[in-house]
Amino acid sequence: MNRIAIIGAGISGLSAAQILRKNHSVTVFDRASKPGGLVKCDRIRDNLFHRVGGHVFNSRNQEVLDWFWSFFERDKEFIKARRNAKILFKGKLIGYPIENYLHQLDKEFVSSVLDDFLSSDYQPRSPFSYPNFADFLKSNFGKTLYEAYFRPYNEKIWNTNLENIPLEWLEGKLPMPDLKSMLLSNIVVQEETEMVHATFYYAKEGGSQFIADRLAEGLDIRLNTEIAGVSKTEAGYFLAGEGPFDKIVFTGDVRQAAAVFPDSQTALKAGDYLRKLPSKGTSNIFCETDLGDVSWLYLPGIETKAHRIIYTGTFAESNNRGSERHTCVVEFSGDYSFEFMSEEIKKLPGNLKPIDWNHEPNSYILHNHETASLLKEFNRNFAAEGIYLLGRFAEWEYYNMDKAIEAAMKLDREINQ
Ligand SMILES: Cc1cc2nc3c(=O)[nH]c(=O)nc-3n(C[C@H](O)[C@H](O)[C@H](O)COP(=O)(O)OP(=O)(O)OC[C@H]3O[C@@H](n4cnc5c(N)ncnc54)[C@H](O)[C@@H]3O)c2cc1C
Repeated sequence: MNRIAIIGAGISGLSAAQILRKNHSVTVFDRASKPGGLVKCDRIRDNLFHRVGGHVFNSRNQEVLDWFWSFFERDKEFIKARRNAKILFKGKLIGYPIENYLHQLDKEFVSSVLDDFLSSDYQPRSPFSYPNFADFLKSNFGKTLYEAYFRPYNEKIWNTNLENIPLEWLEGKLPMPDLKSMLLSNIVVQEETEMVHATFYYAKEGGSQFIADRLAEGLDIRLNTEIAGVSKTEAGYFLAGEGPFDKIVFTGDVRQAAAVFPDSQTALKAGDYLRKLPSKGTSNIFCETDLGDVSWLYLPGIETKAHRIIYTGTFAESNNRGSERHTCVVEFSGDYSFEFMSEEIKKLPGNLKPIDWNHEPNSYILHNHETASLLKEFNRNFAAEGIYLLGRFAEWEYYNMDKAIEAAMKLDREINQ
Protein backbone atom coordinates (compact mmCIF):
# COMPACT_ATOMS: atom_id res chain seq x y z
CA MET A 1 0.00 0.00 0.00
CA ASN A 2 1.43 3.38 -1.11
CA ARG A 3 0.52 6.86 0.05
CA ILE A 4 -0.34 8.65 -3.19
CA ALA A 5 -0.99 12.37 -3.80
CA ILE A 6 -2.92 13.25 -6.95
CA ILE A 7 -2.58 16.79 -8.27
CA GLY A 8 -5.79 17.68 -10.12
CA ALA A 9 -9.44 16.75 -9.64
CA GLY A 10 -10.40 16.72 -13.33
CA ILE A 11 -11.68 13.50 -14.92
CA SER A 12 -8.14 12.04 -14.96
CA GLY A 13 -7.37 12.77 -11.30
CA LEU A 14 -10.82 11.68 -10.07
CA SER A 15 -10.73 8.43 -12.07
CA ALA A 16 -7.20 7.62 -10.93
CA ALA A 17 -8.17 8.35 -7.31
CA GLN A 18 -11.22 6.07 -7.45
CA ILE A 19 -9.21 3.26 -9.05
CA LEU A 20 -6.04 3.60 -6.95
CA ARG A 21 -7.83 3.92 -3.60
CA LYS A 22 -8.76 0.21 -3.75
CA ASN A 23 -5.13 -0.62 -2.89
CA HIS A 24 -3.58 2.64 -1.71
CA SER A 25 -4.15 5.65 0.50
CA VAL A 26 -4.98 8.54 -1.85
CA THR A 27 -5.29 12.33 -1.35
CA VAL A 28 -6.38 14.63 -4.20
CA PHE A 29 -5.45 18.33 -4.49
CA ASP A 30 -7.01 20.91 -6.83
CA ARG A 31 -6.65 24.65 -7.04
CA ALA A 32 -10.29 25.08 -8.05
CA SER A 33 -13.23 25.35 -5.66
CA LYS A 34 -15.01 22.37 -7.22
CA PRO A 35 -13.96 19.17 -9.00
CA GLY A 36 -14.18 18.66 -12.79
CA GLY A 37 -11.37 20.62 -14.45
CA LEU A 38 -12.40 21.14 -18.08
CA VAL A 39 -15.79 19.47 -17.62
CA LYS A 40 -16.97 21.97 -14.98
CA CYS A 41 -20.44 23.50 -15.45
CA ASP A 42 -22.23 26.36 -13.68
CA ARG A 43 -25.88 27.25 -13.36
CA ILE A 44 -26.44 30.74 -14.76
CA ARG A 45 -29.94 32.04 -14.12
CA ASP A 46 -30.83 28.35 -13.71
CA ASN A 47 -29.53 27.39 -17.18
CA LEU A 48 -26.59 24.98 -17.39
CA PHE A 49 -23.39 26.49 -18.81
CA HIS A 50 -20.55 24.14 -19.82
CA ARG A 51 -17.56 26.43 -19.25
CA VAL A 52 -15.60 24.52 -21.93
CA GLY A 53 -17.17 22.63 -24.85
CA GLY A 54 -20.38 20.74 -24.13
CA HIS A 55 -19.14 17.47 -22.68
CA VAL A 56 -20.98 14.28 -23.59
CA PHE A 57 -19.85 10.75 -22.79
CA ASN A 58 -19.37 7.54 -24.71
CA SER A 59 -16.65 4.95 -25.22
CA ARG A 60 -15.75 2.06 -27.48
CA ASN A 61 -13.90 0.43 -24.60
CA GLN A 62 -16.12 -2.01 -22.69
CA GLU A 63 -13.84 -1.98 -19.62
CA VAL A 64 -14.18 1.83 -19.43
CA LEU A 65 -17.96 1.63 -19.89
CA ASP A 66 -18.35 -1.02 -17.16
CA TRP A 67 -16.21 0.98 -14.76
CA PHE A 68 -18.01 4.25 -15.54
CA TRP A 69 -21.51 2.80 -15.15
CA SER A 70 -20.59 1.26 -11.78
CA PHE A 71 -20.87 4.86 -10.44
CA PHE A 72 -24.27 5.65 -11.92
CA GLU A 73 -27.76 4.31 -12.44
CA ARG A 74 -27.52 4.61 -16.18
CA ASP A 75 -31.18 4.47 -17.16
CA LYS A 76 -32.36 6.60 -14.24
CA GLU A 77 -29.66 9.27 -14.24
CA PHE A 78 -28.65 9.54 -17.91
CA ILE A 79 -30.22 10.20 -21.28
CA LYS A 80 -29.00 8.26 -24.29
CA ALA A 81 -29.22 10.70 -27.17
CA ARG A 82 -28.72 10.57 -30.90
CA ARG A 83 -25.91 12.64 -32.35
CA ASN A 84 -27.53 15.02 -34.81
CA ALA A 85 -24.59 17.00 -36.20
CA LYS A 86 -24.88 19.38 -39.13
CA ILE A 87 -22.62 21.71 -41.11
CA LEU A 88 -23.59 25.22 -42.13
CA PHE A 89 -22.11 25.05 -45.63
CA LYS A 90 -22.65 27.83 -48.17
CA GLY A 91 -25.73 28.99 -46.26
CA LYS A 92 -27.34 25.53 -46.14
CA LEU A 93 -27.56 22.91 -43.35
CA ILE A 94 -26.02 19.65 -44.52
CA GLY A 95 -25.17 16.38 -42.77
CA TYR A 96 -21.93 15.65 -40.93
CA PRO A 97 -19.41 14.34 -41.91
CA ILE A 98 -19.52 16.25 -45.20
CA GLU A 99 -18.01 13.47 -47.32
CA ASN A 100 -21.03 11.26 -46.57
CA TYR A 101 -23.54 13.95 -47.53
CA LEU A 102 -22.29 15.07 -50.94
CA HIS A 103 -25.75 14.24 -52.29
CA GLN A 104 -27.06 17.31 -50.40
CA LEU A 105 -24.70 19.69 -52.25
CA ASP A 106 -25.10 21.35 -55.63
CA LYS A 107 -24.27 19.52 -58.85
CA GLU A 108 -21.35 21.73 -59.90
CA PHE A 109 -19.57 21.35 -56.56
CA VAL A 110 -20.07 17.57 -56.44
CA SER A 111 -18.88 17.27 -60.02
CA SER A 112 -15.63 18.99 -59.04
CA VAL A 113 -15.25 16.65 -56.01
CA LEU A 114 -15.73 13.63 -58.31
CA ASP A 115 -13.14 15.02 -60.74
CA ASP A 116 -10.70 15.04 -57.80
CA PHE A 117 -11.53 11.43 -56.90
CA LEU A 118 -11.11 10.31 -60.52
CA SER A 119 -7.89 12.21 -61.16
CA SER A 120 -4.56 10.36 -61.33
CA ASP A 121 -3.32 12.54 -58.40
CA TYR A 122 -5.89 10.97 -56.09
CA GLN A 123 -3.84 8.33 -54.32
CA PRO A 124 -4.81 8.16 -50.64
CA ARG A 125 -2.37 6.29 -48.43
CA SER A 126 -2.18 5.43 -44.76
CA PRO A 127 -2.59 8.73 -42.85
CA PHE A 128 0.78 8.40 -41.17
CA SER A 129 2.69 8.40 -44.41
CA TYR A 130 1.92 12.11 -44.92
CA PRO A 131 4.27 14.79 -43.59
CA ASN A 132 1.46 16.97 -42.21
CA PHE A 133 -2.28 17.41 -41.66
CA ALA A 134 -2.78 19.55 -44.81
CA ASP A 135 -1.30 16.87 -47.11
CA PHE A 136 -3.37 14.17 -45.47
CA LEU A 137 -6.63 16.08 -45.94
CA LYS A 138 -5.84 17.12 -49.53
CA SER A 139 -4.87 13.60 -50.58
CA ASN A 140 -7.81 11.87 -48.92
CA PHE A 141 -10.67 14.25 -49.72
CA GLY A 142 -9.39 15.98 -52.87
CA LYS A 143 -8.64 19.67 -53.33
CA THR A 144 -12.24 20.84 -53.81
CA LEU A 145 -13.43 19.58 -50.40
CA TYR A 146 -10.11 20.62 -48.86
CA GLU A 147 -10.35 24.24 -50.02
CA ALA A 148 -14.08 24.66 -49.42
CA TYR A 149 -14.43 22.85 -46.10
CA PHE A 150 -11.48 21.09 -44.45
CA ARG A 151 -8.98 23.92 -44.69
CA PRO A 152 -11.16 26.82 -43.48
CA TYR A 153 -12.74 24.74 -40.70
CA ASN A 154 -9.48 23.30 -39.39
CA GLU A 155 -7.61 26.59 -39.70
CA LYS A 156 -10.24 28.18 -37.48
CA ILE A 157 -9.79 25.46 -34.87
CA TRP A 158 -6.02 25.22 -34.92
CA ASN A 159 -5.40 28.89 -35.70
CA THR A 160 -2.37 27.90 -37.75
CA ASN A 161 -1.34 26.78 -41.21
CA LEU A 162 -2.27 23.07 -41.37
CA GLU A 163 1.13 22.30 -42.89
CA ASN A 164 2.61 23.00 -39.45
CA ILE A 165 0.58 20.21 -37.83
CA PRO A 166 2.19 16.75 -37.80
CA LEU A 167 0.07 13.62 -37.90
CA GLU A 168 1.65 11.08 -35.56
CA TRP A 169 -0.26 12.27 -32.52
CA LEU A 170 -3.64 12.13 -34.29
CA GLU A 171 -3.32 8.35 -34.61
CA GLY A 172 -6.62 6.72 -33.72
CA LYS A 173 -8.34 10.11 -33.46
CA LEU A 174 -8.90 10.90 -37.14
CA PRO A 175 -11.67 9.51 -39.29
CA MET A 176 -10.04 7.19 -41.83
CA PRO A 177 -11.96 7.83 -45.03
CA ASP A 178 -11.78 5.47 -47.95
CA LEU A 179 -13.28 6.22 -51.32
CA LYS A 180 -15.56 3.19 -51.35
CA SER A 181 -17.22 4.01 -48.03
CA MET A 182 -17.59 7.69 -48.99
CA LEU A 183 -19.30 6.76 -52.24
CA LEU A 184 -21.38 4.08 -50.54
CA SER A 185 -22.66 6.54 -47.94
CA ASN A 186 -23.78 8.84 -50.74
CA ILE A 187 -25.39 6.19 -52.90
CA VAL A 188 -26.95 3.97 -50.24
CA VAL A 189 -28.00 6.73 -47.88
CA GLN A 190 -27.48 5.53 -44.30
CA GLU A 191 -29.39 6.71 -41.28
CA GLU A 192 -27.01 8.42 -38.88
CA THR A 193 -28.24 6.10 -36.13
CA GLU A 194 -26.55 3.18 -37.92
CA MET A 195 -23.15 4.83 -37.70
CA VAL A 196 -20.52 4.22 -35.01
CA HIS A 197 -20.56 6.82 -32.23
CA ALA A 198 -24.02 7.88 -33.37
CA THR A 199 -25.18 8.05 -29.77
CA PHE A 200 -23.91 9.52 -26.53
CA TYR A 201 -24.85 9.66 -22.87
CA TYR A 202 -25.67 12.83 -20.98
CA ALA A 203 -26.74 13.35 -17.36
CA LYS A 204 -30.40 14.26 -16.93
CA GLU A 205 -29.40 16.92 -14.40
CA GLY A 206 -26.14 18.87 -14.12
CA GLY A 207 -24.37 17.83 -17.34
CA SER A 208 -20.73 16.81 -16.99
CA GLN A 209 -20.53 18.47 -13.54
CA PHE A 210 -22.81 15.66 -12.34
CA ILE A 211 -20.19 13.14 -13.55
CA ALA A 212 -17.34 14.95 -11.79
CA ASP A 213 -19.30 15.37 -8.55
CA ARG A 214 -20.21 11.68 -8.45
CA LEU A 215 -16.64 10.57 -9.19
CA ALA A 216 -15.48 12.86 -6.35
CA GLU A 217 -17.74 11.15 -3.79
CA GLY A 218 -15.87 9.22 -1.11
CA LEU A 219 -12.49 10.73 -2.03
CA ASP A 220 -10.17 12.65 0.26
CA ILE A 221 -9.99 15.95 -1.70
CA ARG A 222 -8.37 19.29 -0.83
CA LEU A 223 -10.02 21.94 -2.99
CA ASN A 224 -8.77 25.57 -3.28
CA THR A 225 -5.25 24.17 -2.94
CA GLU A 226 -2.75 25.24 -5.59
CA ILE A 227 0.33 23.02 -5.65
CA ALA A 228 3.18 25.40 -6.39
CA GLY A 229 6.08 23.16 -5.39
CA VAL A 230 6.50 19.54 -4.30
CA SER A 231 9.52 18.89 -2.12
CA LYS A 232 11.38 15.61 -1.81
CA THR A 233 12.99 14.33 1.39
CA GLU A 234 14.31 10.93 2.50
CA ALA A 235 10.83 10.23 3.90
CA GLY A 236 9.04 10.96 0.61
CA TYR A 237 7.23 13.80 -1.15
CA PHE A 238 5.59 16.75 0.65
CA LEU A 239 3.02 19.16 -0.79
CA ALA A 240 0.67 21.78 0.66
CA GLY A 241 2.03 20.99 4.13
CA GLU A 242 1.03 17.30 3.83
CA GLY A 243 3.09 14.17 3.42
CA PRO A 244 5.15 12.15 3.19
CA PHE A 245 3.75 10.58 0.00
CA ASP A 246 5.43 7.67 -1.78
CA LYS A 247 4.14 8.61 -5.21
CA ILE A 248 2.68 11.63 -6.98
CA VAL A 249 0.21 11.55 -9.86
CA PHE A 250 0.31 14.87 -11.73
CA THR A 251 -2.66 15.70 -13.98
CA GLY A 252 -1.90 19.42 -14.41
CA ASP A 253 -0.06 21.18 -17.23
CA VAL A 254 3.24 19.42 -17.97
CA ARG A 255 4.72 22.77 -19.05
CA GLN A 256 4.77 23.65 -15.34
CA ALA A 257 6.63 20.46 -14.36
CA ALA A 258 9.89 22.24 -13.53
CA ALA A 259 8.10 24.68 -11.19
CA VAL A 260 5.90 22.04 -9.54
CA PHE A 261 8.76 19.51 -9.12
CA PRO A 262 11.86 21.60 -8.37
CA ASP A 263 13.64 18.55 -6.84
CA SER A 264 13.05 16.27 -9.84
CA GLN A 265 16.03 15.52 -12.10
CA THR A 266 13.69 14.75 -15.02
CA ALA A 267 11.83 18.05 -14.62
CA LEU A 268 15.17 19.84 -14.47
CA LYS A 269 16.40 18.21 -17.69
CA ALA A 270 13.11 18.30 -19.63
CA GLY A 271 11.86 21.64 -18.27
CA ASP A 272 13.06 23.83 -21.12
CA TYR A 273 11.53 21.61 -23.80
CA LEU A 274 8.25 21.13 -21.91
CA ARG A 275 7.80 24.82 -21.14
CA LYS A 276 7.61 25.61 -24.86
CA LEU A 277 4.94 23.06 -25.84
CA PRO A 278 2.23 24.90 -27.80
CA SER A 279 -1.49 24.82 -27.02
CA LYS A 280 -4.65 26.66 -28.07
CA GLY A 281 -7.32 28.15 -25.88
CA THR A 282 -11.03 28.47 -26.58
CA SER A 283 -13.59 31.16 -25.83
CA ASN A 284 -17.27 30.35 -25.36
CA ILE A 285 -20.36 32.43 -25.38
CA PHE A 286 -23.38 30.89 -23.68
CA CYS A 287 -26.63 31.87 -25.40
CA GLU A 288 -30.36 31.40 -25.65
CA THR A 289 -31.40 30.09 -29.07
CA ASP A 290 -34.55 29.22 -30.95
CA LEU A 291 -35.69 25.64 -30.49
CA GLY A 292 -34.34 22.95 -32.81
CA ASP A 293 -33.12 19.36 -32.78
CA VAL A 294 -29.52 19.78 -33.99
CA SER A 295 -26.91 18.80 -31.38
CA TRP A 296 -23.75 20.23 -33.00
CA LEU A 297 -23.47 22.74 -35.85
CA TYR A 298 -20.06 23.08 -37.51
CA LEU A 299 -19.21 26.46 -39.03
CA PRO A 300 -16.51 26.28 -41.73
CA GLY A 301 -17.45 29.69 -43.25
CA ILE A 302 -14.87 32.44 -42.98
CA GLU A 303 -17.54 35.10 -42.42
CA THR A 304 -17.45 34.29 -38.68
CA LYS A 305 -14.62 33.38 -36.30
CA ALA A 306 -16.94 30.98 -34.43
CA HIS A 307 -16.25 27.37 -35.38
CA ARG A 308 -19.16 25.49 -33.86
CA ILE A 309 -22.37 25.75 -31.91
CA ILE A 310 -23.02 23.09 -29.29
CA TYR A 311 -26.74 22.90 -28.60
CA THR A 312 -26.40 21.79 -24.98
CA GLY A 313 -30.08 22.68 -24.49
CA THR A 314 -31.03 19.73 -26.72
CA PHE A 315 -29.01 17.30 -24.53
CA ALA A 316 -31.26 17.65 -21.43
CA GLU A 317 -34.40 19.70 -20.84
CA SER A 318 -33.12 20.66 -17.35
CA ASN A 319 -30.31 22.63 -19.04
CA ASN A 320 -32.88 25.24 -20.14
CA ARG A 321 -34.71 25.61 -16.84
CA GLY A 322 -34.27 29.38 -16.65
CA SER A 323 -35.19 30.06 -20.26
CA GLU A 324 -38.29 30.06 -22.45
CA ARG A 325 -36.10 28.87 -25.33
CA HIS A 326 -33.15 26.44 -25.62
CA THR A 327 -29.57 27.19 -24.59
CA CYS A 328 -26.36 26.62 -26.54
CA VAL A 329 -22.65 27.37 -26.46
CA VAL A 330 -20.89 29.05 -29.39
CA GLU A 331 -17.22 28.13 -29.46
CA PHE A 332 -14.28 30.17 -30.78
CA SER A 333 -10.67 29.08 -30.99
CA GLY A 334 -8.50 31.74 -29.31
CA ASP A 335 -8.98 34.55 -26.82
CA TYR A 336 -12.02 36.69 -27.62
CA SER A 337 -13.92 39.23 -25.55
CA PHE A 338 -17.60 39.04 -24.66
CA GLU A 339 -18.21 42.12 -26.83
CA PHE A 340 -16.50 40.59 -29.88
CA MET A 341 -18.38 37.29 -29.55
CA SER A 342 -21.69 39.09 -28.97
CA GLU A 343 -21.23 40.80 -32.35
CA GLU A 344 -20.15 37.55 -34.10
CA ILE A 345 -23.21 35.59 -32.98
CA LYS A 346 -25.44 38.06 -34.84
CA LYS A 347 -24.17 36.36 -38.04
CA LEU A 348 -25.36 32.93 -36.85
CA PRO A 349 -28.76 31.25 -37.08
CA GLY A 350 -31.13 30.79 -34.13
CA ASN A 351 -31.70 34.38 -32.99
CA LEU A 352 -28.95 34.02 -30.39
CA LYS A 353 -29.02 36.07 -27.19
CA PRO A 354 -25.91 36.06 -24.94
CA ILE A 355 -26.15 34.96 -21.29
CA ASP A 356 -22.54 34.50 -20.15
CA TRP A 357 -19.08 33.73 -21.48
CA ASN A 358 -15.76 32.08 -20.61
CA HIS A 359 -12.20 31.94 -21.88
CA GLU A 360 -10.20 28.74 -21.26
CA PRO A 361 -6.52 29.38 -22.08
CA ASN A 362 -5.71 25.68 -22.40
CA SER A 363 -8.06 23.53 -24.51
CA TYR A 364 -6.27 21.98 -27.47
CA ILE A 365 -2.73 20.67 -27.27
CA LEU A 366 -0.40 20.82 -30.28
CA HIS A 367 2.50 18.53 -31.12
CA ASN A 368 5.71 19.09 -32.98
CA HIS A 369 7.15 16.14 -34.91
CA GLU A 370 9.31 14.97 -32.02
CA THR A 371 6.82 15.61 -29.17
CA ALA A 372 5.28 12.12 -28.89
CA SER A 373 8.58 10.24 -28.60
CA LEU A 374 10.17 12.79 -26.24
CA LEU A 375 7.12 12.81 -23.98
CA LYS A 376 7.24 8.99 -23.75
CA GLU A 377 10.85 9.17 -22.63
CA PHE A 378 10.18 11.93 -20.05
CA ASN A 379 7.20 9.94 -18.75
CA ARG A 380 9.40 6.89 -18.14
CA ASN A 381 12.00 9.00 -16.34
CA PHE A 382 9.41 10.74 -14.16
CA ALA A 383 7.88 7.35 -13.26
CA ALA A 384 11.30 6.11 -12.13
CA GLU A 385 11.24 9.00 -9.62
CA GLY A 386 7.73 8.06 -8.41
CA ILE A 387 6.06 10.90 -10.35
CA TYR A 388 3.36 9.81 -12.80
CA LEU A 389 2.01 12.08 -15.54
CA LEU A 390 -1.65 11.46 -16.33
CA GLY A 391 -4.29 13.17 -18.47
CA ARG A 392 -4.79 15.56 -21.35
CA PHE A 393 -2.24 18.23 -20.36
CA ALA A 394 0.17 16.13 -18.31
CA GLU A 395 0.64 13.46 -21.00
CA TRP A 396 0.02 16.06 -23.74
CA GLU A 397 -2.47 13.72 -25.38
CA TYR A 398 -5.64 14.53 -27.28
CA TYR A 399 -7.79 12.65 -24.72
CA ASN A 400 -11.55 12.61 -24.40
CA MET A 401 -13.02 11.67 -21.01
CA ASP A 402 -13.09 7.96 -21.84
CA LYS A 403 -9.45 8.01 -22.94
CA ALA A 404 -8.55 9.80 -19.69
CA ILE A 405 -10.30 7.00 -17.75
CA GLU A 406 -8.50 4.37 -19.85
CA ALA A 407 -5.18 6.07 -19.06
CA ALA A 408 -6.03 6.03 -15.33
CA MET A 409 -6.68 2.27 -15.56
CA LYS A 410 -3.32 1.77 -17.28
CA LEU A 411 -1.60 3.81 -14.57
CA ASP A 412 -3.17 1.64 -11.86
CA ARG A 413 -1.74 -1.47 -13.53
CA GLU A 414 1.67 0.20 -13.79
CA ILE A 415 1.72 1.22 -10.11
CA ASN A 416 0.53 -2.18 -8.89
CA GLN A 417 2.83 -4.36 -10.98
C1 LIG B 1 -13.61 22.16 -26.24
C2 LIG B 1 -13.52 20.76 -25.67
C3 LIG B 1 -14.60 19.89 -25.79
C4 LIG B 1 -14.52 18.59 -25.29
N1 LIG B 1 -15.61 17.77 -25.41
C5 LIG B 1 -15.55 16.51 -24.91
C6 LIG B 1 -16.70 15.65 -24.97
O1 LIG B 1 -17.78 16.03 -25.45
N2 LIG B 1 -16.57 14.38 -24.47
C7 LIG B 1 -15.41 13.95 -23.90
O2 LIG B 1 -15.36 12.79 -23.47
N3 LIG B 1 -14.32 14.74 -23.81
C8 LIG B 1 -14.36 16.01 -24.29
N4 LIG B 1 -13.27 16.84 -24.17
C9 LIG B 1 -12.05 16.33 -23.52
C10 LIG B 1 -12.15 16.38 -21.98
O3 LIG B 1 -12.37 17.71 -21.58
C11 LIG B 1 -10.83 15.89 -21.35
O4 LIG B 1 -10.52 14.62 -21.80
C12 LIG B 1 -10.87 15.81 -19.83
O5 LIG B 1 -11.62 16.83 -19.26
C13 LIG B 1 -9.42 15.87 -19.35
O6 LIG B 1 -9.39 15.80 -17.96
P1 LIG B 1 -8.00 15.95 -17.19
O7 LIG B 1 -8.30 15.59 -15.79
O8 LIG B 1 -6.95 15.21 -17.91
O9 LIG B 1 -7.59 17.50 -17.29
P2 LIG B 1 -8.28 18.78 -16.64
O10 LIG B 1 -9.73 18.73 -16.81
O11 LIG B 1 -7.55 19.95 -17.20
O12 LIG B 1 -7.98 18.66 -15.08
C14 LIG B 1 -6.78 19.06 -14.48
C15 LIG B 1 -7.10 19.56 -13.09
O13 LIG B 1 -5.86 19.80 -12.39
C16 LIG B 1 -5.97 20.99 -11.66
N5 LIG B 1 -4.60 21.49 -11.49
C17 LIG B 1 -3.67 21.67 -12.48
N6 LIG B 1 -2.50 22.10 -11.96
C18 LIG B 1 -2.69 22.20 -10.62
C19 LIG B 1 -1.84 22.59 -9.55
N7 LIG B 1 -0.56 22.95 -9.75
N8 LIG B 1 -2.35 22.59 -8.31
C20 LIG B 1 -3.64 22.22 -8.10
N9 LIG B 1 -4.48 21.84 -9.08
C21 LIG B 1 -4.02 21.82 -10.33
C22 LIG B 1 -6.87 21.89 -12.50
O14 LIG B 1 -7.49 22.88 -11.69
C23 LIG B 1 -7.87 20.89 -13.07
O15 LIG B 1 -8.99 20.75 -12.25
C24 LIG B 1 -13.33 18.14 -24.65
C25 LIG B 1 -12.26 19.03 -24.50
C26 LIG B 1 -12.35 20.32 -25.00
C27 LIG B 1 -11.19 21.25 -24.83
